[in-house]
Amino acid sequence: MQQQQLPVLICGGGIAGLALAYWLHRGGRHCIIVERSPSLRPSGQNIDIRGLARDVISWMGIDGSVKRSSTMEVGKHMIDQSGRIWGSHPAQPNGFTAELEILRSDLAHILQEVVKDDVKIIYGDYIDDIVEKEDRVTVHFHESKESQDFSVVIGADGVGSKTRSIVFGEEALSAYRPIGLHQGFFSLPSLDMGPWARWLQAPGGRSILARPNGKGGTTVLMGFTTSHGSTNKRAQWKSMEQVKVGLAELYGDVGWEVPKLIEGMMTCDDLYFSEAAQIHLRSWSRGRVVLLGDAAHCPTSMSGMGTSCALVGAYVLASEMCLHPFHPTEAFSEYERVLRPYMEKAQEIKPWQVSLLHPQNMYQIWLGRGLSVLSSYLDLQKYLKREIKPEGIEVKSYEDLWKS
Ligand SMILES: Cc1cc2nc3c(=O)[nH]c(=O)nc-3n(C[C@H](O)[C@H](O)[C@H](O)COP(=O)(O)OP(=O)(O)OC[C@H]3O[C@@H](n4cnc5c(N)ncnc54)[C@H](O)[C@@H]3O)c2cc1C
Repeated sequence: MQQQQLPVLICGGGIAGLALAYWLHRGGRHCIIVERSPSLRPSGQNIDIRGLARDVISWMGIDGSVKRSSTMEVGKHMIDQSGRIWGSHPAQPNGFTAELEILRSDLAHILQEVVKDDVKIIYGDYIDDIVEKEDRVTVHFHESKESQDFSVVIGADGVGSKTRSIVFGEEALSAYRPIGLHQGFFSLPSLDMGPWARWLQAPGGRSILARPNGKGGTTVLMGFTTSHGSTNKRAQWKSMEQVKVGLAELYGDVGWEVPKLIEGMMTCDDLYFSEAAQIHLRSWSRGRVVLLGDAAHCPTSMSGMGTSCALVGAYVLASEMCLHPFHPTEAFSEYERVLRPYMEKAQEIKPWQVSLLHPQNMYQIWLGRGLSVLSSYLDLQKYLKREIKPEGIEVKSYEDLWKS
């Protein structure tokens, strides 16, 4: 494969950015990553690797490391405030627990290890301007105050993508669609709660999910709806201290082992708090700039598909860029043509799914418990989840390209 003179700039060293760097380097393209955080971000709970994304990690040669880092979660118990179990949902390919789950930070570390000797990663900076010319893109780095030319720019900077705002302007604002949910993720490395995840719901649209981290600790997700009444104000917390105090107040009356989880949260250093929003753009590229992963088509954590989409997207985008090294716009339009059906399917979250998982009152909670018991006996989870999994959508094969 031929090498272009100017490097490729990848904005964002998360899952999508690191995976893309791997494939571009393998295809002979010189690329640089700029990551806004001062180092690899340590936060995040369990993420699923499903369907085609499992093939992608195997083609990258990291499936062994990923399996060894699996959280070993065997399934999810729905519990009540006294810890009583209302239905058990064992891990399975289309299930609430996927057959392969890993901590987001572990996957990011594995990907970083794979590229670190070949790809330059600039930490603690970001771009604040992009000027496109006929054969290149000139970007300006905010912290270093330097300008540099690149052949193309890839925005892999997550759901709040700055690259998207710079390039898509007004359309970027309307592309951002909150689903009425805020989520706080944190970990308690020395609290072992066993191999089953526990899932507890409380009135007012609150839910809490405590999961094994595979290393003798627990990761916690506190999710609450913000489209209803009193919790709405609480989404306005600004500093991490405000978020911690706010979450402690919001979940203080929930019961079970939650006081212990809150105590751990108050001193944890990896709390990640965000609004759940999807991204819907008419097109994922403009000229020599293209978006990848959550920046282009975030499905939210409700889908369980964000990371799988990022891994598959990185593979397809790199393949198309290597097939069309001097015609980036052709590469980008083919990338979108191939992947749009897959990503749109992953984004199909029904409004009732958010409500079912975050009930407003005790009637809805009892309904959820009843469904959980029924689903547990009849193994209904495969039917509930199957319709939002993009299984069965064919993605073009690039086998010949990567043979050598
Ligand atoms: C800290 C963190 C924790 C997460 N935890 C979970 C979780 O527990 N469960 C879950 O389902 N999903 C979680 N996610 C989201 C999940 O990682 C993504 O949905 C999925 O992996 C797709 O990855 P991505 O690379 O497109 O986006 P992300 O993983 O969000 O990565 C984007 C990267 O870009 C960086 N960045 C942001 N702005 C800029 C900028 N202007 N310039 C340069 N770099 C920038 C970010 O620091 C980040 O490293 C988390 C994301 C982050 C950032």
